Order: sequence, then structure tokens, then C-alpha cells
Amino acid sequence: MASSSKARNIIKRVLSENAREYAFQYALAIACLAIISLSTAFIAWIMKSVINAAFVERRADLVWGVCLAIFIAFVLRGFASYGQAVILSKIGNNIAARYQVRAYSHLLKLSLGFFNQTRSARIVARLNQNISGVRDVMNLTITSTVRDLLTFVSLVSVMFMQEPWLSFFVFLAAPPLSYGLRKLSKRLRAVTSENIHAGSYVFSAMQETVQGIAVVKAFTLEKPLQQKFDGLLSVSERRANKITRVSERSGPLIETVAGFAVSGVIAYAAYRSVYYNVPPGGFLSFLTALLLAYDPARRLARVPVQLATAVTNAEMIYELLDTELHQRDLPDAKPLVVTDTRIEFRNVSFGYGHDEVLKEVSFVAEGGKTTALVGPSGAGKSTIITLIPRFYDPRAGEILIDGQDIAHVTKQSLREQLAYVSQQPYLFEGTIRDNIRYGRPEASDEEVERAAGLAYAHDFILAQPQGYDTPVGENGVTLSGGQRQRLSIARALVRNAPILLLDEATSALDTESEAAVQKALDEAMVGRTVVVIAHRLSTVVGADKIVVMQDGRVVEEGNHDGLSQKDSLYARLARLSHANR
Ligand code: ADP
Repeated sequence: MASSSKARNIIKRVLSENAREYAFQYALAIACLAIISLSTAFIAWIMKSVINAAFVERRADLVWGVCLAIFIAFVLRGFASYGQAVILSKIGNNIAARYQVRAYSHLLKLSLGFFNQTRSARIVARLNQNISGVRDVMNLTITSTVRDLLTFVSLVSVMFMQEPWLSFFVFLAAPPLSYGLRKLSKRLRAVTSENIHAGSYVFSAMQETVQGIAVVKAFTLEKPLQQKFDGLLSVSERRANKITRVSERSGPLIETVAGFAVSGVIAYAAYRSVYYNVPPGGFLSFLTALLLAYDPARRLARVPVQLATAVTNAEMIYELLDTELHQRDLPDAKPLVVTDTRIEFRNVSFGYGHDEVLKEVSFVAEGGKTTALVGPSGAGKSTIITLIPRFYDPRAGEILIDGQDIAHVTKQSLREQLAYVSQQPYLFEGTIRDNIRYGRPEASDEEVERAAGLAYAHDFILAQPQGYDTPVGENGVTLSGGQRQRLSIARALVRNAPILLLDEATSALDTESEAAVQKALDEAMVGRTVVVIAHRLSTVVGADKIVVMQDGRVVEEGNHDGLSQKDSLYARLARLSHANR
């Protein structure tokens, strides 16, 4: 829960980030809000003249002017209210959009470490739910302080101007009322921010279920998930009920005090009129102001609670925006210059957490040649692949490309020289053409189609209902595993980068599909420096060099013929893999 000083800081931050940007629009909105407040006060104030001129003095000549003034005040209020609504919502939408862009571009900059630690559904929940917080902080502070406070103050001034003693009497009720409201709003703030956190859990539970629906069904997880979800929802439902109970408690409190004040005031005014013959205009004007002040006062009483909701949301967005898990380029980073594309690992040690996953790994992947990484699962092969694009930085040692330490080159220039084909090809929302073109956004249609041809994908793409323009689902659900792999190979081919990082799929494809994928890969490997996590014997046998890994170390190096002859780990692995086939 945001403590009040923390809340103040967040409000300050939201204001300082946005107030100047929209100064002119806010000034316009504030002018409109001021017109609304002042015309409301004017309507109350002029009641005195209306009553006294029309009903006491019976002067028809004055009535016309007064009625015209009231009409104008209403019209002004109507236009001003339209103006402020349009301006404020325009600013609000723009703020929400800007923060969404900001959060998204921040997300793109965060390192893989962040995504390892944070559940994706929580991130999406934040982007969806919390963005509104910033907008609400702005609009609440502006509308509540300016419109409601100004309206309230000007109406109270009218009350004091018309009936000072009555006003004094009414305001005796203010201190106990504000004490009660303050206590209520403190309780509410706590429950509200708890509720927002609970809500984001519900949202992410839904999202994860949708993403993993196949697993849910295959393992018949419907029942336990339903129970978990029911549990989450009943917590959130109870909180929501509690919020209503606590917040509506202000109703009876305010009504009681208001009833007491209004009836007391009427009694006093009636007594004065009956016994002292005081004209009723001033009193009616006072009463109008009192009744009109009621709404803004009630809204002002709610502001702390609404602000608490907005601040909690804004706080969660800032938590995301303040996450500093960037890998920045070094100040003296230069662009990578590729000549032979020779990759060298020199005593590289690395770990994700405490444990060391790679221990003093050294090997060379020669330019234009294929280097296969083999070894038991968990040996560190994928980790090696993730270090080359600098998804993570080594703890010790260096990785060199053509003699340049990749820690000292810009990430952009490094990654431009790389293409990556993962085990599980990821397809984005969009058409097949878009998905291939992600390899190199400026590639022409011909280049896309040529790459698809080389990846043995052209024919099955043409067989799709709209050919290259067929949309693929979130995970390319309409395509088979082998077809998806060939699309991701086409994506790597269109990139035309000198280095190819390859994580061969272990999942069994049918023989025909596998043959097509293999041919596509062979095509992709021609003339490139390839580092491949090899699962297929044919890839290993065909590799120029084999690096055998175990427990984070390089234990053997050589080619197939050389390694097979020794009684090596490689020979044992090869025998195993033969036996499996
Ligand atoms: P391989 O590809 O040879 O199967 P990996 O490089 O995937 O091996 O894994 C090496 C070790 O690093 C394993 O012990 C694994 O548990 C650990 N590991 C892999 N990825 C992560 C990660 N993102 N966070 C923490 N530990 C990881």
C-alpha cells in the first residue's frame, strides 16, 4: 500500500512529467472549469434578486434582466462543461497512449534477466490495468481541485455574503464531519490498493490459462485451476464488497449532518420571516448555494479514495518503468566489423544465479565453418548460444568476434550480424510474409520469397488460402511444427547475416517434414559461421568441428572421425544416439 508520503511523491512525479507538456490545454480546461464554478455560484447568488424583485417588490421591469442573466449563466455553464470534458478526455487519452508507448519501449530494452524473473502475464496485466492510473491522477487532481474546490468555495462565499450568521451556524458541523470522513478514507485507501493488486492476479491467471490451454486440457487441469481461480475471485469479490461498505458509510454520516443543518436553517429563517418580516430572498439564495454546494462537497470527500486507486495504479507502472535491468552499451562501444567471422570463447565463465553454469569455456568457431555443440542435457549448450548475441554478459573471460571483444561493441551492430533459429519457432501475429520479413524489415517481396524458396517453404505457403498473405495465429496454430520451423529458417535466411545460431529441434517431426527442414537448414548454413546445438547425428557428422560439453565445461574437441576413434564421451553419446534410432 502506498503510504501518504509515497503517494505524494507519485502525484508529484505524475504532475512534473505531464503538467508542462499539456500546460496550454490544461489552462483552457481550467478556464472552463472556472466558468462552471463561477456561473454556478452566480445562479445561487442571483436568487436573492429573483425572489425579492419578483415576489416581494413585485417589479416586473427587474425580472426580465434577472431571468436573462440566469439564462446566460446556464448557457455558459453548458458550453464550458462541454469544453472541459472534451479537453480533459483528449489529454487523458493522450497521456494513456504515451505511457503505453513508453512502457512498451522500456519493455523492449529490458534484458532477458528481467523476463526470466517476471511472469509475462503480470507484465501484460500491468500494461493493461495500470496505465489508467497516470491519467486519473492528472484528471482527478485537476478536476477535483479546480472544479469542485472552486465551486465549493464560491458557493460558500455566496452563503456568507447573503446570510453570514446562518452560514456560521452550518459550518459548526464541518469539523466533526471532516474528522469522520478522514477516518473513513484512510481505511478505504488500504482496502482499495489491496483490491487492485488482487485484480491483477485475477487478470494474469486468466491470461496464463489461455496461453497454456493445451496443457490445461491434456492434463485435465480444469478442476484445480477452476478452484484456484474461484479462490482468487472470491478474495477480490470480498474486497470489492468491503470497499462499498466502507465507502458508503460516508452516506449516512453526511446525510445526517446535512439534514440537521438544513432543517435548522429553515426553522431559523421561517422564525425570522414570521416574527421580524425579513424578506426571504437572501435566505433562498443561501439555501440554493447550500444545496448546490452539497454535490461538490461530496465529490471532494471521495477524492482521497479515488486518488488512492489512481496512485496505486500509477505506482505499479512506475515500478515497471524504473526497472533498471538494461544492458547498456559501454561508452566507448564501437560497431562490430566483421571480416572472417571467427568466433572465439576465451575462458568464459557464466551463471544465471549463484551456480556457475559455464566454467572457463574456451573454443573457436572458425569463420564460414559449422561448429556443433553436443553433450548431455543441462551441459550448458544453450547458454553458450545466448551469450553470443549478448543476452547475458559473461562473469569472466571474453567472447571475441574477429578479435573484437563483444562486450566492447554496440549490441545493435553485433546482433545485425546474427541470425537465430530457435527450437520453438515463434511466429508473431500477422501474415506469413510479415513473419519472414521480421528477419530484415527492409527486405523486398522478392527477397522474402527467395528465402522461403531456399527454406523449402514456398510450396506450402502457396497452398495456404491467401498464400504469403495468410495470417498466422498467435502461435501459428494453423501450421504444422515442421512448417513453422521452415518459416523461421526463412526468416533467418532473409536476414542474410554472416553468423547463424541454431538450436536444432528435438521434437520428432514426421520423416518427410524432417527431411524438408534438414534441407532448409543445409541451405541456410552455406557460407556462414554456424554454431549449432546439434541433436541430429547427420548434423554432427557433417560439422567441421564438434565441441563436446559436460557440466559447463568443454571436455572434448575435434571432428566426427577423430572423436569416434577414442573411448570418449562423444563416442558414448554417438553410440547412444545410434541405439535410439
Ligand atoms: P543445455 O542446453 O546443454 O541443455 P543449458 O545451457 O540450457 O544446457 O543449461 C545449463 C544450466 O543452466 C542448467 O543447469 C540449467 O538449469 C541452467 N539454466 C538454463 N537457463 C537458465 C535460466 N534462464 N535461468 C537459470 N538457470 C538456467
